[in-house]
Amino acid sequence: MVSSPAPSSPPSTVPQKKRGSTKDSIGLYAVQCYDCYKWRTTTKEEFEKIRENFTEDPWSCSKRPDCSCNEPADIEYDSSRVWVIDTPNIPKPPQDTERLVIMGRDFTEMDAYYVMPNGKHARCDADVEKFLEAYPEYKDRISISSFNFATPEIVEETVCHNSGWKADKTKKKGKADAPGAKKVIKSTLSI
Ligand SMILES: [Zn+2]
Repeated sequence: MVSSPAPSSPPSTVPQKKRGSTKDSIGLYAVQCYDCYKWRTTTKEEFEKIRENFTEDPWSCSKRPDCSCNEPADIEYDSSRVWVIDTPNIPKPPQDTERLVIMGRDFTEMDAYYVMPNGKHARCDADVEKFLEAYPEYKDRISISSFNFATPEIVEETVCHNSGWKADKTKKKGKADAPGAKKVIKSTLSI
């Protein structure tokens, strides 16, 4: 799993709540090559990096070592999973925060929020402001402009075929029926 860079953890004036109690609904991240249109799976960390400048700096297979457009796709775009298309150019979440998107129960909308360094959730700019008022020592490394609460667009046609999931309470288990979605950058297809 991806862990945050250890050496640079901040002075912990903020009570650290244990991480990982809440999980993203995204089971898998994928990005599409602008050249060959194949989908490549990626980690959340890499995905957030690619997403940050996606419009100016679209992704291609050649950016990945040991990968080229000749390699078979990692994954096919089909309805075996629910796909969601992410908004491009969302800044990377500030250090010590985590951005989560959660699928609603009926698969019609998603919710985006940040887990702040104190473990609280920020769902809008006002929540971030409140956090910074309470912990002014974070003001030099957490800027409100780095927060973006845009939610991914759910690809409806991939939901219909998966309606059985709605009854599935034990989401995070299996892989095909894992939480919803493969997160996908809004890609060349839709530009
Ligand atoms: Zn390619």
